[in-house]
Amino acid sequence: MDKIENQPCPFCKQNKMTMTEEELEIPYFGKCFLFALNCSACGYKMSDVEAEKDKEPVKIIFTVENEKDMKVRVVKSSNATVSVPQLRMKVSPGPASEGYISNIEGILDRFKKVVEDLKETAEEDEEKREAKNLLKKIWKVRCGDVPLKIIIEDPSGNSAIISEKASILKLKK
Ligand SMILES: [Zn+2]
Repeated sequence: MDKIENQPCPFCKQNKMTMTEEELEIPYFGKCFLFALNCSACGYKMSDVEAEKDKEPVKIIFTVENEKDMKVRVVKSSNATVSVPQLRMKVSPGPASEGYISNIEGILDRFKKVVEDLKETAEEDEEKREAKNLLKKIWKVRCGDVPLKIIIEDPSGNSAIISEKASILKLKK
């Protein structure tokens, strides 16, 4: 892993930013690079992943069916949209969008965190109840009791779900 410290931060302009770059070999996906920027002064954070070779726009559909699926690897670039229709959730690319390499469990944890924050800040009882129900659903998915479909669309092609069960479709531009 390459690491360069004390770089100027684009936000707070202090020389407190650390840049890291890691080269990884992901089976069935190939060589890719994981970059991260981290400013210890203002907390600015950015990360992304990019495949070494140019990829075609993709749409990946994966159904989580059991506990074993939690360990399935996921590559998600900052250009990807992750949606879970059953949970009515969608994470779209934007300025704060992060690219990362994780697994299905990690993706569920991210969604869980979003719902937990919603539950904390909800003012209406109705919203709180809905958030609670979503958390219950996520828990059941983690236990393998309820199947869950996860869809990743990436016009840059730098995303993947590494499983024989994943359907990979060409994404229409
Ligand atoms: Zn900063």
